[in-house]
Amino acid sequence: MDEIEQSPLFEEAITSCHYFWQAGWGEFHAGNLTYLLDDDEVAELSKYFSHNPVKVPVEFDTCGLEGRYFLATRTGGSFRTLPQRVARDMGIIRLGAGYYEILWGYDNGEGRPTSELPSHLLCHVARLASNPENRIVMHVHPTYINAMTTLAPLDSHEFTRALWSLNSEGIVVFPEGVAVLPWMVCGDGPIGPATAEKMSDKRVVIWPYHGIFAAGKGFDEVIGLIETIEKCAQVYVSVNGAPKHCITNEELRSLADHFGLVADI
Ligand SMILES: [Zn+2]
Repeated sequence: MDEIEQSPLFEEAITSCHYFWQAGWGEFHAGNLTYLLDDDEVAELSKYFSHNPVKVPVEFDTCGLEGRYFLATRTGGSFRTLPQRVARDMGIIRLGAGYYEILWGYDNGEGRPTSELPSHLLCHVARLASNPENRIVMHVHPTYINAMTTLAPLDSHEFTRALWSLNSEGIVVFPEGVAVLPWMVCGDGPIGPATAEKMSDKRVVIWPYHGIFAAGKGFDEVIGLIETIEKCAQVYVSVNGAPKHCITNEELRSLADHFGLVADI
């Protein structure tokens, strides 16, 4: 184990990601996390940073976050095995204009951060404008929230009202409500900017038939948000019937086209 893994930040990040797998919300390669380091964390961890960092050019906008440091999970990583493979499935990057540098992790820079990084950065910018203390953007696949998107109206106001109405804690924990996007192809397309736009005044954005993006100051806040919404959704699903809508064949074809898949739809 690398010494860096025993730092409080790494211990919390590893424990949190593994908890999401244990909860059944981070299956296989699902789930990704980005965490904006503050100056004290950069100072504490910098002794572990590579003196010859791998520099990776990017085509996406680094959104004015140049010079900022992020802890990020790896593309193709696994929350299940993360505790045994931290130096493979996590890393620290520093953003520059049109590039990032890998300062630690991803198998000594051989791997790359989550493919959702462009979406995460847009979300960080949106949340930082609303709350300068925002540090985390997290994406996972909570089961009952996904199930609820097949039952409830895919409208932010109505979906929020449904969640609030099922547990007194709901409105207390997320008084600003949740945003619900229409179904969109996931990945590096328009779903990222659409998510970030919703995050200008919401900490939670739900992707129908897929999962949740949640943001906050710390791990406790983000985990608490997701747990509370998942509990409300579990009650909703428990008292409602069969799915009313789900991914259509046409939408499945657009997914297959986007990812270059051969599937008999
Ligand atoms: Zn996902």
